[in-house]
Amino acid sequence: MALWNLGGINADHVYGVPHIPAPGETLDGQSHSLYLGGKGANMSVAAARAGTHVRHIGAVGEDGAWARDRLMEYGVDTRAITTVEADTAHAIIFVAEDGENAIMVYPGANRAIPEDHLKQSLTQAETGDWFVCQNEVNLQDEAVKLAADMGLNVAYAAAPFDADVTKRLLPYLDFLILNEVEADQLKQATGQGPADLPVRDVVVTLGAKGAQWFGENGVVDVAPHVVTAVDTTGAGDTFTGYVLAGLDRGQPMEQALKTAAKASALMVTRHGTADVIPDLAEVQAFSG
Ligand code: ATP
Repeated sequence: MALWNLGGINADHVYGVPHIPAPGETLDGQSHSLYLGGKGANMSVAAARAGTHVRHIGAVGEDGAWARDRLMEYGVDTRAITTVEADTAHAIIFVAEDGENAIMVYPGANRAIPEDHLKQSLTQAETGDWFVCQNEVNLQDEAVKLAADMGLNVAYAAAPFDADVTKRLLPYLDFLILNEVEADQLKQATGQGPADLPVRDVVVTLGAKGAQWFGENGVVDVAPHVVTAVDTTGAGDTFTGYVLAGLDRGQPMEQALKTAAKASALMVTRHGTADVIPDLAEVQAFSG
């Protein structure tokens, strides 16, 4: 079994600044760090650390070899990441002394994935494998239709949220995951709450309140773990990667959800994103 993830790969450049620059202002940065980011990359790392075989489908520019290497070091199968002429997607993140931030994301290669590359990559998928994508890349419509035609289990993480894209993908999905805000936005756009959507399994994550699964047994609550959160970035991606890894490994939904809640609770006790996503042994040892 494998989890195929059509997802974004970002270089996150984080600059410490005295304050967020005003229009027309130039100031010196006080620090600079480069991290691997992007929802797609985070989910791939989480699912790989949860013990499943993850095949990441995506694109970087000539400047992105380090990101592919980093994913490989983290256990992700990177053979379906291609190099294109665009720049690797990147985020410029200003973090001011008072904690305020400002972010610009340049999608670059994430939105320049060639259709031939997608089709060629997916020819290696097998019936019963899982497929997931988010909304940072191009080709979601083509990919989701192809994956459904091939008999894969099709999942979508509806972030960054776009009502039109989500509505178009709904008929092809077996699994939809979204946070509370996104679930409200989808309800406004469709008039349907999570229980009414034409998708076999819908999971709504609720931050510190845990999550809810709308499936064959009606609504099932996923209890949160009480922790002291220091950085919630990447909690949702960790949850999604873990739950899909569990399903790909044949676990029942409730078990996969419980492990995902534990992994994401542990994640919010740590600063950072892909680099600090816990592995399964750490999650199993975590008593929070
Ligand atoms: P993000 O965009 O910050 O990655 P999200 O909005 O997609 O997150 P959330 O609903 O905030 O997703 O969080 C995902 C899961 O992480 C929750 O369902 C929960 O299991 C866990 N989680 C998040 N915040 C906390 C917290 N403060 N304490 C314990 N668990 C948490």
